[in-house]
Amino acid sequence: MINFNVSPVTGKEIEYIQDVINNRHLSGNGKYTSLCHNWIKNKTGTKKALLTTSCTHALEISALLLDIQSGDEIIMPSYTFVSTANAFVLRGAEIVFVDIRPDTMNIDETKIEDAITDKTKAIVPVHYAGVACEMDTIMDIAKRHNLFVVEDAAQGLMSTYKGKMLGTIGHLGTFSFHETKNFISGEGGALLINDERFIDRAEIIREKGTNRAQFFRGQVDKYTWQDIGSSYSPSELNAAYLFAQLENIDALLTKRLGVWNSYYSGFEELEDYGYIELPYIPNTVEHNGHIFYLKCKDLNERSNIIRALKNSGIQSTFHFVPLHSSPAGEKFGYFSNQDNFTTRESERIVRLPLYNDITDEDIQKVIEAIYTFYGRKSINADSFAARTY
Ligand SMILES: *Cc1c(COP(=O)(O)O)cnc(C)c1O
Repeated sequence: MINFNVSPVTGKEIEYIQDVINNRHLSGNGKYTSLCHNWIKNKTGTKKALLTTSCTHALEISALLLDIQSGDEIIMPSYTFVSTANAFVLRGAEIVFVDIRPDTMNIDETKIEDAITDKTKAIVPVHYAGVACEMDTIMDIAKRHNLFVVEDAAQGLMSTYKGKMLGTIGHLGTFSFHETKNFISGEGGALLINDERFIDRAEIIREKGTNRAQFFRGQVDKYTWQDIGSSYSPSELNAAYLFAQLENIDALLTKRLGVWNSYYSGFEELEDYGYIELPYIPNTVEHNGHIFYLKCKDLNERSNIIRALKNSGIQSTFHFVPLHSSPAGEKFGYFSNQDNFTTRESERIVRLPLYNDITDEDIQKVIEAIYTFYGRKSINADSFAARTY
């Protein structure tokens, strides 16, 4: 069986977790949390990085920081994970879904302005597959309409847009370290604060509404309840695992991009024949190989591909079911203008096994299985074997 995902291990995780146990400091905000904070800050150039228990929670802190109230409107793509919307719905906001671009599957920046009303508070671009949204345009729209931008960069650590790290361009940015992402801690996330105005309050919200962080830095002589907040700091055990991954991020990234590139070159011929479409990477961005997908004809063909791969012992999967057509999406939001691409393009996506330990042999098996599905095996077997291996 070729699994769809296998979580990455670099080798140092167990040593750092043992260190946490030896230090008898298992709750949050110890040595490893601090190491991760510094690493993220130095690597990305954000003003302040805070580890959170998930990207979902980093998005929730963002909604609290922006003082989202009942009746506010938040603009985002419908092609995303539920947390992008839920974080704001929890504050009473209404979600305004904007169509995606068929090439990157990211929010169509040219359709955002049409969706803005006098209730709009923020735009939440989602960098699908670690490929950046058109951030210059989005930041320009936000500036002209006085809106906040929260980047859902759950999938985007180490990706760039015009040389800038994803998560550092909007007022706030969020990462996920969930097991299914590139660099992980099991469950976990981070909030990136790029606008200094939010730093003090973010620390308070993350610490159950107290000024405990200032107290530990000796800035106040006791800590008390200051604001609303919740429990958003991960355990040191999670931070220790994460730090081992961050320290080795270049090796993890290189390996992942290598797998992604093998798939890409292996499938180019099939794309030339017109059977499938491969992911598009704009030349202004560097991506992190988070997802390898191909687009087939339609929903029916996709079901057949997933079934055929399963019969060959290969796990593959589709991705987000558009939020606007889900029961909660219908209740908490509306689609701005027409859904030209969101539903149609999301139904064409097949995601293939992608993880650091996948062998060249298994990659070739997956490629061959797709060629076989389209009945092109004999013509291509030699050429893609020669090209990729
Ligand atoms: C994974 C993901 C999330 C949620 O991340 P968690 O850390 O599991 O909360 C949010 N948004 C997007 C786009 C994601 O891919």
